[in-house]
Amino acid sequence: MNVVNAELITIGDEILYGQTLDTNAHWMSSALSEIGIKVVRRTTVGDLEAEILKALSEAELRTDIILITGGLGPTNDDLTKPCLARYFDCEIVVNEQALKELQKYMAGRGRELNKLTRLQASLPEKCEMVSNERGTAAGMWFNKSGKVFVAMPGVPDEMKHMMKHKVIPRLKDEFELPVIYHKIVRLAGIGESWLAEKIELWENALPRNVRLAYLPTYGDIKMRLTATGEDLEILKVQANELVDQLLPLINDYVYGFDDETLEIVIGKMLIERNETLAIAESCTGGYISHKITSVAGSSDYFNGSIVPYQNEMKIRRLGVKEATLIDHGAVSEETVIEMAQNVREKFRANIGLASSGIAGPGGGTEEKPVGTIWVACADERGFISKKLQLTQDRAVNIRLSSVAALNMLHKRLLKND
Ligand code: ATP
Ligand code: MG
Repeated sequence: MNVVNAELITIGDEILYGQTLDTNAHWMSSALSEIGIKVVRRTTVGDLEAEILKALSEAELRTDIILITGGLGPTNDDLTKPCLARYFDCEIVVNEQALKELQKYMAGRGRELNKLTRLQASLPEKCEMVSNERGTAAGMWFNKSGKVFVAMPGVPDEMKHMMKHKVIPRLKDEFELPVIYHKIVRLAGIGESWLAEKIELWENALPRNVRLAYLPTYGDIKMRLTATGEDLEILKVQANELVDQLLPLINDYVYGFDDETLEIVIGKMLIERNETLAIAESCTGGYISHKITSVAGSSDYFNGSIVPYQNEMKIRRLGVKEATLIDHGAVSEETVIEMAQNVREKFRANIGLASSGIAGPGGGTEEKPVGTIWVACADERGFISKKLQLTQDRAVNIRLSSVAALNMLHKRLLKND
C-alpha cells in the first residue's frame, strides 16, 4: 500500500513570536496519524507573502497533502487567501455558496453583514469552498496534479470542526489509506520505565503490523496500540487479544480504556454505587475539583469542595484541630486525614478526598522538602493516606498530586466491590 504523506503549514506572526502556541499543528498531526496519513514535515511561516509562497512550493515538492491554517481573516495582516490566489494563478471572486452560508451564519446570530465580513465570502476562483460551521472564514480546497491543498481558519475550534466534519472524510475518500485500529490502555501510579520493564516480553513479541506508543502525561500513561492492515474487524480482534494478554501484567495500574479518563471512570463508579464525593484541597488549589467537574453530569455525585489554603481556614471552615496543625504541621498525614474526614462530614458525602503539601518553589524544609505532598481518602470504612515525594516544579506537583489523589480514590472504590 502506498504511503500517503502530508505537510502542515501554520501561518501567523504570533506563532513565530511565541505569543501563540501552535496547537493546531499538534492536533492535526494526531488526527492525521489516526487515519493513516503520515505527517512528514511541519512548517510555520509569518504573515509575509514571500515566505508563504515559498512554503507552498516547497511543500508541493515533498508531499501529497498540504494542510494550511491561519491568516484567512479579512484584515490586512491576513495574507493566506491572496497568496493562494497567486500560487494557483487565479482571481479572488465572490463565491455564491460561501456568501449564502455567511449570511445564514450572521443571521443566526442576529448580526448584519458589514463590508469587511462580506469579504470573507470572496475566495480564489480555483478553489472549492469548505463550509465553516463555527465561524465566518470559509475553508478552501484545491486539487493540483493529484495533490491536495486545504486552507483552514487559524481559530483552533473552527479548524477542528472543519477537519472532523469536512476535510478528514474527504481525504479518506480521495486517498487509498491503510485501515487502522487504535486501542488505548490507560494507567496511573506507575512510571514509564517501570512499565516498560514489566511488559518487555509482551512488547518484544508484538506482531509486525502492531505498534506500541507510550503517551505519558503527569502521572497518567496512555499505552496506544496501533494495528494496521486491511480489515477493521480482524484488526479489532487482534488488538483486543493483545490487550487481554497484557492486562495480567499490569492489572494494578490500569484504570480505563480509550477515552475513559480517570475522572470519567470515577464518575461512572460513583453513579453505579449511588455515592457522593467531597474534596478539601490545599496545595492542589482546586485542580482535583476542576478535573472532577470537567465531566458532564458530575453534579450527580460531586457535592462540592473547599480550598482552605491558610491554617486558619483549615481550622475555622473545615474543623481541623488546632493541636493537629501545631503538633504535626499543615503538611502531615494527621492533617490531611482530618481534612478528608471533615470535608466528608461537612459536605454530607460518602467519600472525602484531601491534599496538603509543599508545591514549591519556596517553603521547603529539610524534613519536608519541596514536593512533599500528602493525599488522603476517607469513607465509612475509615481512611487511607499516602505521602508523595514529587518535583521542584510547582505546576508539575499540582498535576501529579491531583492524579495521585484521584488514583487513590479509584483504588478505594475498586476495593469496595
Ligand atoms: P479569522 O477569520 O477567524 O480571524 P484566521 O484564519 O484569520 O481566522 P488567525 O487570525 O490567523 O485566523 O488566528 C485566529 C486565532 O487563532 C488567533 O487567536 C490565533 O492566535 C489562533 N491561532 C492561529 N493559528 C494557530 C495555531 N497554529 N495554533 C493555535 N492557535 C492558532
Ligand atoms: Mg492572523
